[in-house]
Amino acid sequence: MRSALRLARWLTFSIAACFLPATLPGAQAPATPWQVGVASRDITPEGSLWMAGYASRTAPSDRVDQKIRAKALALDDTRGGRVVIVTLDLIGVPAALRAHVERESAQRFGLKPHELLLNASHTHSAPLITLDRFELEHTFKRAATPEQIAVATRYEAGLRQALVDLVGESLQARAPGRLEFAQARAGFAMNRRRPEAKGQFSNNPNPGGPVDHDVPVLKVTGADGKVRALLFGYACHNTTLGESHISGDYAGHAQDFLQASYPGATALFLTGCGGDQNPYPRRKMVPDQKPEDLVRQHGRALANAVSTALNAPLRPVQGPLRGAYGHAMLDYQPLSKTELEAYLRPPHTPAVNARARDLLQKQARGKRSAPLACPVQVLRFGSDLTLVAIAGEVVVDYSLRLKRELKGPADVWVAGYSNDVFGYLASRRVLDEGGYEGGGANIRILNHPGPFTTDVEEKVIGKVHELLGQVRK
Ligand SMILES: [Zn+2]
Repeated sequence: MRSALRLARWLTFSIAACFLPATLPGAQAPATPWQVGVASRDITPEGSLWMAGYASRTAPSDRVDQKIRAKALALDDTRGGRVVIVTLDLIGVPAALRAHVERESAQRFGLKPHELLLNASHTHSAPLITLDRFELEHTFKRAATPEQIAVATRYEAGLRQALVDLVGESLQARAPGRLEFAQARAGFAMNRRRPEAKGQFSNNPNPGGPVDHDVPVLKVTGADGKVRALLFGYACHNTTLGESHISGDYAGHAQDFLQASYPGATALFLTGCGGDQNPYPRRKMVPDQKPEDLVRQHGRALANAVSTALNAPLRPVQGPLRGAYGHAMLDYQPLSKTELEAYLRPPHTPAVNARARDLLQKQARGKRSAPLACPVQVLRFGSDLTLVAIAGEVVVDYSLRLKRELKGPADVWVAGYSNDVFGYLASRRVLDEGGYEGGGANIRILNHPGPFTTDVEEKVIGKVHELLGQVRK
């Protein structure tokens, strides 16, 4: 009888085992397979600074509504795979800033390019950090004074150093932890390319246009079971506010709300492909609602989506972590002589006049503009999560397409505004449609020699696939 029972038990176990996967997620893996470190720095400027984002501003910042921060999350799979993800409450990541942090991080911490990801929230309520004279003069619509340039230069020098130190602090803070992924949704981002008469597109809410409302979340838990970090994303401009006050906009508020809800956790915002997405309503669209109320409302909505994701089934994220970093070389469509000559006169600023003269001279000598090297980065967390980070103000078509094309066992997370924010990265559709993100922004202020050629999307997507091929080997 006893042996029959033992046999029955053995049979039950054996039959059950046949239907179990070879490895149970989380069952055989160590409880804390990662080494994780977080660090945060206040990067709020002292005093008044010229601000980035809206060319309509005529005065520097006049107060601080919310402190802005740089944060770093170091993830180490303890088998040689690691990355430091740096998020910034800033308008963008100038290529020179990335180059500096990359160089210093290589020297001081041995980080390789694919082990560093810099992402900006694109808040339009932060200091101007591009020290390019042209950019300054265009933003100010007049020559910047030596004092203005000195203040901006000091801020950027301090920022460069702070970011390298921040990377080091996050690596230093590494301790055992585990990672989990989940996703929810938030609905306040809306497409902002509204079709108008004669096939043109204006910068206004377009409820029928494509959006990406996913809110991906990476939950980082320490060995004590406490949440150490929440990395979350959303594809939308941080343009709820329009005044001259320093603020992280909705992403800043979402981070603050989350840190209040999960004491001890650092919340980091990773901007998605929101190049053609705005938060609505925004600024002074609603007569009886103040922008400072709207920005908290959007921040709350996003923080609530993160909390909802944390209450959905969480997927354990295992290693190995493998990354690759490269550049898609993007060519420009040259502007005609007539088009360029139109920029030689007022109302265009002297900075734009000079740029047009330069391009005309190049054209006369038969010289083509050099292509733009657009950074593309991929991070593969075993077979659980693939994170793609693309430079520029990436329009939503890229994340929608990549999530479709890369669909498989791993979840897919696509970030824009990473490692260099050079301007808009249009898709083929947006380029064909034209308008602001389709090349109009490039041409209007001539910060690029023209719109990108029509193969731009294939080149960027092709680079993503190429890099993923490298990390799959
Ligand atoms: Zn933008």
